[in-house]
Amino acid sequence: MPHKKVVIIGGGMSGIKAAIDLYNAGITNTVILESQSHLGGRLSTILSENHQGTTYDLGASWFHDCLKNPLLDKVNRLKKAGNGGMETIEYFYDDGKCVYLDKKLGNVESSFFESILNEFFTFVVLSYTANPEKPDLSVKDLTFEYLEKYKDTFSSEQGDVVIGVIRMWTELWLGESWEKVSGKYTCQDSHLGRNAFVKNGFQKVFVNELRELPRWYRDSSIKLNAHVDKIDYSNNKKIIVGIKDGRSYTCDYVIVTIPQTNLKNDKVKWIPEVPPPIKKVLPEVHFGSLGKVVLEFDECFWPENVHRFYVLADDNRTDKSTTKDPKPWEYPSLLVNYQAVNNVPSLIALTQKPLSEYIESLPDSPSKDEKIWSIYKPMLSKLVGSDSIPIPKKIYHTTWNKHPLYGGSYGCPIVGAQDPSEVIDAFVNGYQGRIKFAGAETMDDSSNGCAHGAWFSGQREAAYIIAKEGKVSAKL
Ligand SMILES: Cc1cc2nc3c(=O)[nH]c(=O)nc-3n(C[C@H](O)[C@H](O)[C@H](O)COP(=O)(O)OP(=O)(O)OC[C@H]3O[C@@H](n4cnc5c(N)ncnc54)[C@H](O)[C@@H]3O)c2cc1C
Repeated sequence: MPHKKVVIIGGGMSGIKAAIDLYNAGITNTVILESQSHLGGRLSTILSENHQGTTYDLGASWFHDCLKNPLLDKVNRLKKAGNGGMETIEYFYDDGKCVYLDKKLGNVESSFFESILNEFFTFVVLSYTANPEKPDLSVKDLTFEYLEKYKDTFSSEQGDVVIGVIRMWTELWLGESWEKVSGKYTCQDSHLGRNAFVKNGFQKVFVNELRELPRWYRDSSIKLNAHVDKIDYSNNKKIIVGIKDGRSYTCDYVIVTIPQTNLKNDKVKWIPEVPPPIKKVLPEVHFGSLGKVVLEFDECFWPENVHRFYVLADDNRTDKSTTKDPKPWEYPSLLVNYQAVNNVPSLIALTQKPLSEYIESLPDSPSKDEKIWSIYKPMLSKLVGSDSIPIPKKIYHTTWNKHPLYGGSYGCPIVGAQDPSEVIDAFVNGYQGRIKFAGAETMDDSSNGCAHGAWFSGQREAAYIIAKEGKVSAKL
């Protein structure tokens, strides 16, 4: 059994960042064990089959929190310094012209609802500040509480649109139904700046991180197809990390970046047991199901200069039984206009639960694309005012729910669950000072669930070990 100072489980952004910082501080006797045959985890870029050189991201697409995003800072730093053999990253602030599309009202100006929407968010903050004991309510229930109280201050049409927009933002940010999402912990989020869309593949952002590690390290100390299924910390001197194929490593520290849903599902055997503070919070862990559907056409038949189309669901006031086949207008949609972003005639629709699960469950057959298209066609017809619109040449979609290592997209606070900060704390504290956890879902700020959050978490865990080993973190 080879011995390492640190074993890092998972070769996504958080694991790679931890390895880089340890390396730069002189802790080079480390190994990254990655289950899959490739690195990057939830940073996953595919190539278009029809438009040469065009990429689509199935995982992260945006630099969020642009005022405090080290990944974006690096892109800008490299650009100024002439890139030095690194990948060139192109990005675009897709927060220009947007269209809100309502089934009954057609295009709705944002001035029709924006101030009411802002008031709703302030209402939530005030409610919980004035009464911290107020029970957590779903975003849907909080919306209706606000509406009931203030409905006389705006028209019912404005109310309908506000409901649709709140639902759209909640579901397409977290990938989960607004009936399930915690209002208390999501409506009070503050983001640190704008969002910039990566035009030529987020995987390049990851590759630029990876290249911070010297070639010898990448060749010898990153193990692909190394699925960790056992962590034995019963010996108080050495931790044993076991791989499914029978290999194992001993180490002084382990940094676990396995997606928390996977830990929750008992996919790793811990000896003697799951660290008790983690065991306590695992039932509270939940991933939403943000998904993407790429509709690729031969030519653009929609407004070219609009950055995003926000499609509001119809009839949000009534409770609906979940139908097997989702109907058009049943779920809100956010469509990124690739024509505006990349000069390519494609639309990227974000999807949420249960729509993402439905799309993933469709068997591969010619009717699969027809079924997916039947959801989007009526919205696009309404958008352009014609029923005769071209069918997509190709449809791509994500499969994060089905993926055995994920079972969803990223962390999402569910109504009635424990305070997310307490769950995060348990992971940040780790166990016995030698079992450490990184990953996007271990950040207790607006970077939680994001690629730069993963980066911060890797930095945090490396800094802990560096300090404990009496070394000094390298300066950027
Ligand atoms: C659809 C979608 C859209 C997103 N959009 C954005 C966005 O626009 N902007 C943004 O900032 N973020 C976005 N994210 C989130 C972002 O992609 C993630 O937060 C980030 O990539 C997570 O990095 P990580 O290192 O924490 O985890 P991961 O990338 O999940 O890495 C974990 C690694 O561990 C490996 N692993 C799992 N189990 C084992 C095991 N037992 N043994 C060994 N290895 C194992 C996995 O294969 C994986 O490579 C999105 C995510 C999804 C799914």
